[in-house]
Amino acid sequence: MNPVDWPQVEVLYRALLDRPISSTAQLETWLADFSELAAVMDEYICRRYIDKSCHTDDAEIRKRFLYYIEEIDPKTKPLHFELQKKFLASPHAAGLTDKKYAILRRMWQAEVDLFREENIPLETEVTKLITEYDAICGEMMVTFRGQELTLQQLAKYLEDPDRPTRQEAWELSAKRRYQDHERIEEIFVQLLKLREQIATNAGLPNYRAYAWKEHKRFDYTPEQCLAFADAIAAACVPLVDELDRQRKRDLGLTTLRPWDTSVDPQNRPALAPFTQEETGAFVEKTKAIFGRMSPTLADEFDTLRQRNNLDLDSRKGKQAGGYQCSLDESREPFIFMNAAGLQADVETLLHEGGHAFHCLAAREEEVVFLRGAPTEFCEVASMSMELLGADHLDVFYADPADAARAKRMLLEGIIKGLPWIATIDSFQQWIYTHPGHTRAERQVEWLRLLNRFSSKLDWSGLEQYRETSWHKQLHLFHAPFYYIEYGIAQLGALQLWVKSLQDTHRAIAQYRAALRLGGTGTLPELFSAAGIVFDFSEKTLRPLMDAIGEELARLPR
Ligand SMILES: [Zn+2]
Repeated sequence: MNPVDWPQVEVLYRALLDRPISSTAQLETWLADFSELAAVMDEYICRRYIDKSCHTDDAEIRKRFLYYIEEIDPKTKPLHFELQKKFLASPHAAGLTDKKYAILRRMWQAEVDLFREENIPLETEVTKLITEYDAICGEMMVTFRGQELTLQQLAKYLEDPDRPTRQEAWELSAKRRYQDHERIEEIFVQLLKLREQIATNAGLPNYRAYAWKEHKRFDYTPEQCLAFADAIAAACVPLVDELDRQRKRDLGLTTLRPWDTSVDPQNRPALAPFTQEETGAFVEKTKAIFGRMSPTLADEFDTLRQRNNLDLDSRKGKQAGGYQCSLDESREPFIFMNAAGLQADVETLLHEGGHAFHCLAAREEEVVFLRGAPTEFCEVASMSMELLGADHLDVFYADPADAARAKRMLLEGIIKGLPWIATIDSFQQWIYTHPGHTRAERQVEWLRLLNRFSSKLDWSGLEQYRETSWHKQLHLFHAPFYYIEYGIAQLGALQLWVKSLQDTHRAIAQYRAALRLGGTGTLPELFSAAGIVFDFSEKTLRPLMDAIGEELARLPR
């Protein structure tokens, strides 16, 4: 079957739609056939996407990608949805007693419940506004010391040991963003109105309730996320304050200003775990790290290399960033990234490696819709590899001080990351549960949250930049509420890391057992299979923060 030959594809979808189902066994076969068709279609677009990421300058490749997105995808989507409805409506579904089918049913039921014909044009409006926001941000360029730079390129000067250089770069960036703040605020107001309407149309009290269902959050509530934020304020924020005090001492400053937070406090040059020319060594050493955790993980990682499923080096014509994608038909993982010889690259490959282990572990599941776990657990698979891998960075660094520095950066990043997640989540919860709030009220709430969770920096003379600093968080525009997942996953990854400090073998065995479940369990079940608890209270968070604190105290500075 050729996935871009529409008449051929349509026949297969229609045949599934029209097939009579008169027993549970027939329904199971039907689901397997639906799964097979979906896997073929999905692998096709994944491969086109990989091609496009590796060759952004190839017009033919872009054309093939866009052909699917513009011509095939809009036609398959409604048929796919009809098939989901057929499954849910079948009187034989009750006969499918394996509890994984209950997971499938609740996922698909949520999609059916939310669907409203009248929301389609509103979604189109949303997409247009997001595209406009992206265009505004994408056009932000500055001239820094005679050079035309994007704000991303400018960001590296925030790490410059020279304080006036950092200040100049920071102010330039803040001013450039501020130039568009009225337009961005206006876009947000329009998005807010549309989203409230979408929720009302779907019969829900507010957009928070809509997003909860849309993100299939069956296993936790908005109130639990607010309690998580309280736990972060209690157990995490004091550590942030302590790190800031240390930074102030190291830099010899009386106050920290916004441009003092990214520079290495000891003015050392960036870590260089490998050079850009040695991607081979990069892969070998990463494999060695996995091998220290478990020989099986090393072997699995090696299959990616053998199967040519790694594209790691940074070169012209490659898209930015990194990702892992699962090829559903061949049941193989693929990793894409732009390695430039930075410590961040080591973290990225360990992270994406974790996603690849997940893909391999769950590949035996016949129903493709149940192979993938929810994000909250997928990111446990990947983030825990960053943490466990950080105990073996001597593989990359001959000098133990460098390995310690890399590990310190990771752990400090976690301490500072959680309060930001709490800020963004709490802000959105407030926004979408306060209909009719004014712009001024929104700003007051934003500042209240920053004061509660952020570093105590000296913002004097820069207040207007702080008031609008949420404009740069694209999740608020692109995917409301999608963010807390990373906080929840970090809790899981930290628990696995603490367990591995006591017994690596056992921690990895439980990790792999949970990965094998794919998407066939609830979040509490997946966490429990990994030997960790699904709980966001201070009771769980505090011991984890204590463990990080102890580890940081042990590491040389
Ligand atoms: Zn990830």
